[in-house]
Amino acid sequence: MSGQHEYSFFGAVEKSFDKAARFTTWDPGILEQIKQCNSVYRMHFPVKIGEKIEVIKAYRVQHSHHKTPCKGGIRFATTVNLDEVMALAALMTYKCAIVNVPFGGAKGGITIDPKKYTVYELEKITRRYTHELIKKNFIGPGTDVPAPDYGTGEREMSWILDTYTSMRPGEIDALGCVTGKPVTQGGVRGRREATGLGVFYGLREVCNMTDVMKKLGLETGIKGKTVVVQGLGNVGYHAAKFFREGGAIVVGLAEYEGAIHNPAGLNEEEVFQHRKKTGSILNFPGATNITNSSDALELQCDILIPAALENVINGDNAPRIKAKIIGEAANGPLTPEADEVFIKKGVLVVPDMYLNAGGVTVSYFEWLKNLSHVRYGRMEKRFTENMNAHIIGQIEDLTGKNIAQKEKEFIMHGADEVDLVYSGLEETMITATREIMDLWNKTAEIPDMRTAAYVVAINKVATSYAELGIFP
Ligand code: GLU
Repeated sequence: MSGQHEYSFFGAVEKSFDKAARFTTWDPGILEQIKQCNSVYRMHFPVKIGEKIEVIKAYRVQHSHHKTPCKGGIRFATTVNLDEVMALAALMTYKCAIVNVPFGGAKGGITIDPKKYTVYELEKITRRYTHELIKKNFIGPGTDVPAPDYGTGEREMSWILDTYTSMRPGEIDALGCVTGKPVTQGGVRGRREATGLGVFYGLREVCNMTDVMKKLGLETGIKGKTVVVQGLGNVGYHAAKFFREGGAIVVGLAEYEGAIHNPAGLNEEEVFQHRKKTGSILNFPGATNITNSSDALELQCDILIPAALENVINGDNAPRIKAKIIGEAANGPLTPEADEVFIKKGVLVVPDMYLNAGGVTVSYFEWLKNLSHVRYGRMEKRFTENMNAHIIGQIEDLTGKNIAQKEKEFIMHGADEVDLVYSGLEETMITATREIMDLWNKTAEIPDMRTAAYVVAINKVATSYAELGIFP
């Protein structure tokens, strides 16, 4: 497999795993079991496109069954191959473990360019893929739960849900067979922006650690930090949005056709609209064009956020990168060679399988919502509001003073679904950041945050294997 591709993504994940495994005391057998992909399903199926029959190649890999269901997105791209899907599935296992989401890791992919097909054709391909998964028991609320990834979104998740429910009539928890669905189809509010928001919460927590910032020669906090985001898809767009709203200055945005730079700051929504209208990110009013998109990675900034695909920062360009912090919003944007360069340069790499875990965390909330058959906040919202109104009334009566209407509304507000989802995500990202940093601080020999994150993940997965009684 690695013979076909000069760079093996799964090999890179294994390398990072081995680097971290040295800092654990687990039996080598347990470590080997954790590392392997448990089930690999490669399929070919025919789909009629126009007058022709096209043979479509697709995959679903379940990396770990230490907890079920397995969980992970589905990617539509021409670059999808077995090595990539295996690597991404493995990252899902470690990601879920770090953020305490009780799933094993999985990933799926279809090797197609979604732009080359009509919506109808894409629907046919997605539905046929879902059929293949059903036939082999590779999908279901208790077995394996797909979600969006690169090239897929709410629309594809709806097709998957509809195909699944039509094949499994009466299955009461069928809504939980896939996440990232539209809210009208059993989705949860906040899922769309979840990965970008999680990236923001994670990096904000890191930036609030005074000792960590001091070492990097940076001020504590997000405010005023300069940020470059590569990729204006769902993850990059929302990461840029939350950073800008949090007081950072987004000085650079990159897409595959080029990048733009403006030290005064860019508004992601305006850039998005410009790109929609003109077909390109370039020539945005007030910004400088960068025609070679990857040059944007080398811009002067405090935080660089690669939010597109894997392997974009490697041994070649890593030495030229000027950012002090790299926040991996994408999966696997850095190669192990790039990691070594940044360790030497003292650049803080905040690793993917924890930093971009916001997506799967909120997927978990969506799945719980589907299994409980009730919207978050439905039971307690009015109760909280009535109680708060009563407390405010009592305070006003006792003090003889009136609380301003705006303050009153803020205090009274009972949590809506989106409030609870954001709160759960914020708690998850803060806890995970602290857990990784604590472990890193305690073990001086651990060279980087990625290794610390892997150690946390390995310890959790190994513990759960041990608790399952598979190993003595
Ligand atoms: N595709 C996303 C990821 O790589 C989300 C997975 C999910 O929600 O299951 O984390």
